[in-house]
Amino acid sequence: LPTRSQADPGCLPAYACQRHSPLNHHNLCFTEALDTLAEAAGFEGSEGRFLSFRRAASVLKALPGPITSISQLRGLPHFGDHSSRIVQELLECGVSSEVERIKQSERYQTMKLFTHIFGVGVKTADKWYRDGLRSLADLQGQTRKLSRQQEAGICHFEDLNTLVWRHEAEAIQRVVEKAVRQVLPGATVTLTGGFRRGKLQGHDVDFLITHPVEGQEEGLLPKVMDLLESQGFVLYRHTQSNHYQDLKDPAQSTSLFDAYERCFSILRLPDPTAAFRPEAGEEPCRDGKAVRVDLVVAPASQFAFALLGWTGSQHFERELRRFSRAEKQLLLNSHGLYVPGKKESFPAASEEDIFRHLGLEYIAPEYRNA
Ligand code: ATP
Ligand code: MN
Ligand code: MN
Repeated sequence: LPTRSQADPGCLPAYACQRHSPLNHHNLCFTEALDTLAEAAGFEGSEGRFLSFRRAASVLKALPGPITSISQLRGLPHFGDHSSRIVQELLECGVSSEVERIKQSERYQTMKLFTHIFGVGVKTADKWYRDGLRSLADLQGQTRKLSRQQEAGICHFEDLNTLVWRHEAEAIQRVVEKAVRQVLPGATVTLTGGFRRGKLQGHDVDFLITHPVEGQEEGLLPKVMDLLESQGFVLYRHTQSNHYQDLKDPAQSTSLFDAYERCFSILRLPDPTAAFRPEAGEEPCRDGKAVRVDLVVAPASQFAFALLGWTGSQHFERELRRFSRAEKQLLLNSHGLYVPGKKESFPAASEEDIFRHLGLEYIAPEYRNA
C-alpha cells in the first residue's frame, strides 16, 4: 500500500489518523523506550509529557524504515529535545540510562503492577503506593475495602495478565454469538479492539453488538449475560444500561467514554474438551482460562461511529478527535460527528463515510496501530 510516509518520510503528516501505522514496524527499540517514558509520565499524572512521548513514539511506528542516524529525526513532527535525546542515546549505546533507571525504580514497577489489576487506575495505584503498599500480598494482607471488580482482578490476576491469543478470542466470539442470537435473532457480533487491527494477541477481547432494526438491541446485554452465566462462562460481570438521556448534548463529550449499553466482564474460556459440570462444585476459575471481555451494544444508526471508536488504537482515536476539532471544527466521538452546538450527527453508514466527512484518506484497521 503506497502511503505518503513511504513516498517521502521527510514530510510525515502530523496526526496519527493521517498516517498508516502497521502492527509490525521498523523502530521497536525506540518506540518501546518512548512508550515506557509515556507510561511513566502517565503514572505521575503528567498528561503533557505523556502525550509528547506517545506522539513521538507513534511517529516512528509510521516510518517506512528504521532510524539509523539522528539526522533522520529532522523534520519529523512531535520530536522535541527530550525524545530526540532518547533516540540518540539508543543509537549510540543501545540503551537509554533514563529509561533503564525508570524501569528499575520501585515506583514504576509498583505502579505497573497495581494498574495491571482489573479495576485499578492510576489514581488508586498512586494512593496505594503512597500508603506504602508494594505487592499483591500487601493488598491481600490488609483490611481496606476493595471493590468487587478489584477483588475479581486480584483473584484472576495471573490469567488476566497472560495475553489472549486470536484463536481464544474467536472461541469466545462463538460462545457470545450463540448467546446473542438466541436472545435476539438477527443481532450481529463484531470483534473490535486490537484483534480487528490484526493483533495476534491482546489483553482483552472487545465485541460490538447491533441489530438491523433500531431499538431492538436495547436491553440485550443483561439477558445475554444471564444466559452465559447459566452456561457457566461468567466469572465477573458489570453491566451498565445505555445513558443517552444523561448526555444533554452528545456533541459535548469527546472523551473516550461513551454512553452505550455495555458489560465489562471476565469470562472463562470455553474448554472444548471439558463439559461444564456445575454439580461438581469446583472453583470455576480452575477449568478454563479467565479472559477480560468487553461487550458494547450500539443501535444501527450509530454503529459506524461505535465501530470506529472501539477499534482503536487509543492513540489513533485521540488523534482522530484532535484532528476533527483542530482542523475541521467538528466534534467526533463514538456516537457521531457533530457541528459544535448542533445535536444532530452527520449520518454515516460505514467507517469510510466518517473518514470522507473528515476529508481524510481512509485508513484500514490494520493501519491504525498508532
Ligand atoms: P489490547 O489488546 O491491549 O486490548 P486494544 O486496542 O483492544 O488493545 P482496549 O483497551 O481493549 O485496547 O480498547 C479498545 C478500544 O476501545 C480503544 O480504542 C478504546 O478507545 C476503546 N475503549 C476502551 N474503553 C472504553 C470505554 N470505557 N469507553 C469507550 N471506549 C473505550
Ligand atoms: Mn482490547
Ligand atoms: Mn477493551
